[in-house]
Parts: sequence; C-alpha cells; structure tokens
Amino acid sequence: MSENPKHSLPSYLDAKHLGPWGVYLEQVERVTPYLGKLSKWVETLKRPKRALIVDVPVELDDGTIAHFEGYRVQHNTSRGPGKGGVRFHQDVTLSEVMALSAWMSVKAAAVNLPFGGAKGGVRLDPHNYSKAELERITRRYTSEIGVIIGPNKDIPAPDVNTNAQTMAWMMDTYSMNEGATATGVVTGKPISLGGSLGRVEATGRGVYVVGCEAARDAGIPINGARIVIQGFGNVGGTAARLFHDAGAKVIAVQDHTGSIHNANGLDIPAVQAYALEHDGIAGVANAEVIAPEDFWTLETELLIPAALESQINKDNADSIRAKVVIEGANGPTTPEADDILVSKGTLVVPDVLANAGGVTVSYFEWVQDFSSFFWNEAEINHRLEAIMRSAYSSVSAVAAEHKVSQRTAAFITACTRILEAREVRGLYP
Ligand code: NAD
Repeated sequence: MSENPKHSLPSYLDAKHLGPWGVYLEQVERVTPYLGKLSKWVETLKRPKRALIVDVPVELDDGTIAHFEGYRVQHNTSRGPGKGGVRFHQDVTLSEVMALSAWMSVKAAAVNLPFGGAKGGVRLDPHNYSKAELERITRRYTSEIGVIIGPNKDIPAPDVNTNAQTMAWMMDTYSMNEGATATGVVTGKPISLGGSLGRVEATGRGVYVVGCEAARDAGIPINGARIVIQGFGNVGGTAARLFHDAGAKVIAVQDHTGSIHNANGLDIPAVQAYALEHDGIAGVANAEVIAPEDFWTLETELLIPAALESQINKDNADSIRAKVVIEGANGPTTPEADDILVSKGTLVVPDVLANAGGVTVSYFEWVQDFSSFFWNEAEINHRLEAIMRSAYSSVSAVAAEHKVSQRTAAFITACTRILEAREVRGLYP
C-alpha cells in the first residue's frame, strides 16, 4: 500500500488528466472521515479490481478493416458480480469507464443490491456505422471481454447508444462461445429473450417513488405540487407521467428541442404523444415557449434533471428556486453547484439513489433468468417501490445522524457496505 493513499494512483493513469475518475476520487475523500475503522480498506475503492482494454477489429461494409478501442472495467466485486452498462460513444476513455464502474459499485450498494460495479465502452460514434457493422462490432467486443463477463461474474446492460438489440447480440455471442444459452449474462434484453416486464419504465418509476418520499419529508403534498423536468425521454417522460397521474402539476419541461411552460400544468399525455410524433416537444399546443435560462429559475416544488451531466452548475445553481431536486440523470449537478444547493437548504436526492430503479429491475431480470420463472408487472413494480423506499429511508437516516447531505449519506451507506464485505472476505492469499 502507498504511504500516502490520498495520492495513490494506479500507474496507468495520468495524474494531471484524471477526468471523471478524479471527480470520483474526490467523492471518496469526502466520505473517508465517516468510515471509522473501515477506512483502513479505503484504498480498495480507489483502484478498480480489473480493467481490460481490448482491440476490436471489424470488417466494414466497404471491405476495409477498422480497429476500435473497447473497455470493460470491474471496479469492485466484494458484494457480488459486477453490474453496469456498455456505452458506445466517441468520447469513451478509460478514466470515464473507470468512474462509471465505481459509481455503479456505489449505486448497487446504496440500494443494497447484491452486485458490485462494472462498466464497459467502445470508443466510436455509432451514428457513423450501419446496423450490420454495429452487430459485428458488438459481437467481436463481446468475444474479447468474454473472458471476464458471465452470469456469475459481470453482467452488462444497455447504456448511452446501446439498447435491447445490442444486449440480444451480446447474449447470443456469449452463449455461442459458451455452448449454452446464457440469458443471465446481460440485462435490458428483449422480453422474448428473458427480459423483464417493467424494465423500460423502471428508472422513471424509481425517480417518482423517491420524489414522493422526499416531498413528504419537505412537507410538500404531491397533489398540486409544481414539477419542472429537464429531459423528456425514458426517465423524464416516465417520471412526468407518474407525477401527472398522481395529481401533481408538471409546469415546465425541457428537451433538446426547447423549453415549454404552462403555470396551470401541462397536459402530459398530450405532450408525450406529440413528442413521440415530432421527435421532441417544440411546437406542442397549450404551452408557452420559454428561454433555456428562464427554465432553471422557475419557482417550483420539485426539479428533476433527467437529461445530461453538469446541467446544474455554478452558473445557474444560485438562481434555482426548487425546494427539492431529484437527480434522474447521472451526474447532473457539478460538485460546486451541489455545495451551493446544500447551503441554500435545497434537498437534493442524489443520482446514485434517485435513478437506481433501472439497476434494481435489472437485478429482478437477472433473478428471473436464473429461476426461469417470470413475474408479472404488478409484482415487479411493487418490489421496486419497496426497495426504493427502503433505500431512501436508510440514506435519510444516515444524513440525519451525521448532519450531511443525502449525497454524502448515500456514499457513506454504500462505501460502508462495500468495505464491510471487503473486510469479512479478507485478503487472498
Ligand atoms: P433518453 O435518450 O431517453 O432521453 C434523454 C432526454 O434528454 C431527451 O428528452 C432529450 O431530448 C433530452 N436532452 C438531450 N439533450 C438535451 C439538452 N441539451 N437540453 C435539454 N434536454 C436534452 O435518455 P434516458 O434513458 O431518459 O436518460 C436520461 C439520463 O438518465 C441520462 O443521464 C442517463 O444516464 C440517466 N439514466 C438512465 C437510466 C435508464 O434506465 N434509462 C438509468 C439510470 C440513469
């Protein structure tokens, strides 16, 4: 072990260009004082258990050969097999995949799922390749990382620019190589291949459940509460619909096509139908168009960022007038903005808790695949709600005990669970 663990870095990282991994290390620094005797194991959290870089050579449709860089990182598997998505994006780097894998360890432990954290990625812009090329890239990437994934080892899932079809190709490739159909090697699969009911809406439903819990703690009745949502896709759209159905007023929505507002509440089913048809909300009836900068200053009870990273930052955090922020997106609030919101008394439910509904139903999918016995949607939603409520309640208890934000409390809860497992397992040999 290094003499100064704070500055201990794996030699394959450049200390001057840590990127997202640097943000994650800072978060670990913040929770270390709360880990008591377990802090002797904290170095475990600062190094991924395993990081695999693979070359993915593929013949393109025009007959040329292209080489893509692929990664699979298993950050920690103390509590169970690795779990985390596969991202196809031109900006994928080792640092990014490492950080995303670590945040998966934290997310799984914060919600108390029996998983560790992992993540994968291929550095390419998928929009530049045909479906047949993407299938060959996915299959070769799966074969290359096949040495470390498996239903009991590490279970990939969709992430940015990958979907149920990508998972079907991964499952098929892994199964062909193993000589046996292994549905449990990936989650987020099509229903016809052992996918789970309720998976598509799971993240938005989880956002809704913890949103209701946080509103109750802040003394806000959901019926009539004002809600502002950035992002109207899988997460934001589902959350909007559930809050709308519960009697809340979704007064503003922003997506990549614009920002719309109606002080009396938007007709969410109508906006959803319009957005589906027009690939965005711009031009919908019964709503005024507002400037993007005005969107963030709207007075509201709940604000739900459910689009991209770093949307709440030092430039707009001061003008935010929401009582509660529920982070549907991953990393929507920068660390500086987080400090500003906390100092203003805004209740922020962090991403590792608020958007954990997706990985929770992925866990259900994995369990169902193992038993080859599938649950109905009502049962899945019921179990999801129970897990999200219980996670919210344990994180809130830790926040109250240490007088810290929910983000720090979620990290304390998760890191304690991971390091307890690390300690009782002991070192091998
Ligand atoms: P999605 O692609 O379905 O929707 C993204 C939405 O963001 C779209 O409405 C899009 O118009 C909007 N958007 C894009 N660029 C924007 C911009 N510049 N300004 C405003 N809006 C913009 O994606 P999703 O699955 O809903 O994911 C949203 C976030 O939630 C991401 O951070 C993702 O990592 C996170 N997340 C998703 C899941 C899941 O299960 N889908 C799970 C955990 C976390």
